[in-house]
Amino acid sequence: MLNKHIKYFFVLTSILFCFSLALKAEQQEYSKRIVVAHRGAWKTNNLPENSIASLKQAVALGIAGSEFDVRMTADDSLVINHDASFHNLEIEKSKYSQLLAFSLSNEEKIPTLRSYLLAGLLPRNNTKLVCEIKPSEVSRERSLVIAQRVVSLIKALKAQDKVVYISFEYAILKRVLELNPKANTQYLYGDKTPDELKADGIKGLDYNLSVYKSHPEWIESAKKNRLQLNAWTVNDAADMDWLLANGFDLITTNEPELLSIRANLSPVSNGLKLVWSDEFNQAGSPDSTKWGYNLGNGQDGWGNQEKEYYTNRIDNAFVKDGLLNIKAKKENYKGYGYTSARVVTENKFAFTYGTIEVSARLPIGVGTWPAVWMLGANIAKVNWPACGELDIMELKGSEPNKS
Ligand code: MG
Repeated sequence: MLNKHIKYFFVLTSILFCFSLALKAEQQEYSKRIVVAHRGAWKTNNLPENSIASLKQAVALGIAGSEFDVRMTADDSLVINHDASFHNLEIEKSKYSQLLAFSLSNEEKIPTLRSYLLAGLLPRNNTKLVCEIKPSEVSRERSLVIAQRVVSLIKALKAQDKVVYISFEYAILKRVLELNPKANTQYLYGDKTPDELKADGIKGLDYNLSVYKSHPEWIESAKKNRLQLNAWTVNDAADMDWLLANGFDLITTNEPELLSIRANLSPVSNGLKLVWSDEFNQAGSPDSTKWGYNLGNGQDGWGNQEKEYYTNRIDNAFVKDGLLNIKAKKENYKGYGYTSARVVTENKFAFTYGTIEVSARLPIGVGTWPAVWMLGANIAKVNWPACGELDIMELKGSEPNKS
């Protein structure tokens, strides 16, 4: 049960409103610190991925970073391309001159790493160049040669402070660090804990979103280890909101414009900090460290003449596919004709003041009354209604169009 006094809620809202204009400039900066365009900002203007035009668009947006993929030709030219092949030519087995027979959809030739870096090393450009070194499909040794040549070129162009190195191949990042111990390196594969990365001198995690959903504890661990937190490739607004709320340093996306909007809307951009959440990622019963139950029927159906008996059975409350399901059933149970569930954070989490976000899909139909609400944490001592109540949402199933 949550303790919150309505009077102070309005006071807090007024204060936030007064400062909202002052915060606006800072919010814009906030989005620019977060967004990394995946293979450049190509989508909105229908540019080819990994083109110099897509890099220039990311720079024009003023975002935190623009990602690109580096491969090496048979004659040791470093070029920018995601796939191992370019117009059916296997890059590692082709000469650079052979690749020039073809163009990207905007008539650019396949960019070299040198031309790509020079396009991003403009004065007053704060967009980091997020350089993914693709492992060689020929040999581990060749992967390390590619890493060495990339680091050498970046050093020659004095671009060390502008580049973030990322790779799925751990040995590539370790070689980068041997050559430049200060290099900003982020690992992509998702199989190393933050402690392991820290021990090896890697500077950050850039893992698939699903890795963080299955290992939410790595988020805190990364922060404790002062590792940069980045996630790929995040194109859905709800996923963006979740990563923003969890204080990620960077988010890699094909939708840099959408992410900029979500970042500026996020409570985090106003200095708020996430203190509790449940994304319902573990299937089965609700997480018992976060949720308990009201059981039975209460007095007079909890004061509402309710006809159901509330249980803690998985039949009535279960987590599946990232959602908490609360299921009312028509069945005979302990003298009642229906069952359902009331899940509560009582004695597990309470707070005073803050912002709450709940996303829920509601049933309709006579007899249903889904609701999300808060009660004072002192309810066990003073009982309801003295503990106070704040309703977030109630819907009478018989009146589905009334809010
Ligand atoms: Mg990439």
